[in-house]
Amino acid sequence: MRTFAGISTSNGFVRGPVFLYRGQGELPIVEYVVENGKEEEELLRLRRAREEAKKDVEGLIKVLEDRGNEESKIFESHLMFLDDPWLQELTEKRIRVDRLNAEAAVKKVIAEQRAIFARMNDEYFKERVRDIDDVERRLLTSLSGFERTLKFELKAPSIIVADDLTPSETVQLDRKFVLGIATNGGSKTSHVALLARALAIPAVTGLKDITEHVHPGEEVLLDGTNGLVTIRPTKEALEKFDELLNRQRTLLEEDKDNKVAGSLKDGGEILLYANIHPGVPVEGLKEVGARGVGLYRSEYLWLNREGVPSEEDQFEAYSEAARIASSLSEKGSITIRALDIGGDKLVRGISKTENNPFLGNRSIRYLLTHREVMKTQLRAILRASAYGDVWMMYPMVSCVEELREAALVMEEVKRELTEEGKSFNKNIKVGAMIEVPSAAINAEAICRHVDFVSIGTNDLIQYTMAADRSNEDVAHLYQPTNPAVLKLIKMTIDAAKKVGIPVGVCGESAADPIMGVLWVAMGVDMLSMSGTYIPLMSRMFKNLSRAELDDYAATIAALPDDSSAEEILAACRKWMEKAIPKLDDLLLL
Ligand code: PEP
Ligand code: MG
Repeated sequence: MRTFAGISTSNGFVRGPVFLYRGQGELPIVEYVVENGKEEEELLRLRRAREEAKKDVEGLIKVLEDRGNEESKIFESHLMFLDDPWLQELTEKRIRVDRLNAEAAVKKVIAEQRAIFARMNDEYFKERVRDIDDVERRLLTSLSGFERTLKFELKAPSIIVADDLTPSETVQLDRKFVLGIATNGGSKTSHVALLARALAIPAVTGLKDITEHVHPGEEVLLDGTNGLVTIRPTKEALEKFDELLNRQRTLLEEDKDNKVAGSLKDGGEILLYANIHPGVPVEGLKEVGARGVGLYRSEYLWLNREGVPSEEDQFEAYSEAARIASSLSEKGSITIRALDIGGDKLVRGISKTENNPFLGNRSIRYLLTHREVMKTQLRAILRASAYGDVWMMYPMVSCVEELREAALVMEEVKRELTEEGKSFNKNIKVGAMIEVPSAAINAEAICRHVDFVSIGTNDLIQYTMAADRSNEDVAHLYQPTNPAVLKLIKMTIDAAKKVGIPVGVCGESAADPIMGVLWVAMGVDMLSMSGTYIPLMSRMFKNLSRAELDDYAATIAALPDDSSAEEILAACRKWMEKAIPKLDDLLLL
């Protein structure tokens, strides 16, 4: 048995077989055990891939020969490799006997060959390793269909174990078959993390090298709540884990009886909204008690597709989301966030290479410098506002000028739509995300230019601490409870109250039982989070009164400002444990 500790990324406990996904450079490679009886299909895939690879090499040889290029000889040896009956037999045996998928079989056999060549003293033979690498890559490319699109051909419920997953890879996951996710890289706020939570898939990230230790198909235990993955568990470990699975079941049953999400013990109420994005299933939001949608990440319409979504594509998606939000409750509004690309959210054909993309031409900056994109999106959002209570907000606002300029574009779009006779809500609420320190510091001025603000703690922490939100090496500096972060949040809340507009938090910390409760205690009106976390936060509020929340805020505010983030977090935890004696049990999920 071995237990790997990573970052708790999406709560929940699950046991199941491993589906090993290996990105190989630009190639998406998956390795798994094929279903019994499906070996012939795999053999066929392998043979087809081999034929395709051979055709490519033959084409290459022809081109080189036509040019009179001597190097064509090198590729003759590649053809020999591909045609080698002994290697073919070895690879096919891996599929037939070990039931490995074609990719895994190719990798295994090639690795053996590589090792043989590497042991040779002769320089000539040593060099042949490069040819083997080349042949392997060619075969794997054929098998993967030449695309950097992931073919997660999951045939049975599995736990995905991967180096890392990009947003486009993640959105292709078939929820039906994904029991859990464990990755070497990533962090709590990477996009695979956001998605896992949106889909209620238990996940652990930052496991460093787990892909090197698991075998495809073997059963592992994944504890998303504590960030642990156990391989080859002992009998005792299995029994303990099954106990947790039972407690998980009971808690889920109790949540179902907790009818009104966000109600306080004294009858007060906290507005809990859901974060969603296109491509993610939204069923279940009503069951968990989401009031509406507090953050719709529109950029996902741009990810994972060729070209830009048209106004109609967008209108369709936004109006459908508005319809879903209004079905959630009387206050079923939806806040559509304008295109937030840049940083780690890169879009094929749009994103430019920048030296420092996190500080680059992203989000509202991108929109203001690409007017057609901005106008098209605003048109689609406004048109969707005829179909529900649609609010919209700009991401990454760093100064008032941006809001002034955006307001002019909005006016222009409204004028055009009116001229065209299109219906829309003329008083659509426009907000700003507070996720850049300058916006928090000057929050009062920002608040005077908008109808609401939403604090994006994911980025606000990143920019305040100058610590990349997805870099494990600086994860210790990514501190939600750093006094500087708390000050900026307090300034934003106070500014919004003074100006008289609602203020919410839509970063991942809204779903953290310690932090989310603190934000409410400090005065935010609403929290927006992955729907899966609403029951957890509801459990917290059900055990607290407004007077207690005031005491929480006062306790933390009274801590000295040279306290470390850890000391503040410990004080938060201590307060929560005192206020809610059975806290540990409620935190299981
Ligand atoms: C945030 O930064 O907190 C936020 C909600 O936006 P995103 O995570 O999409 O950057
Ligand atoms: Mg953000």
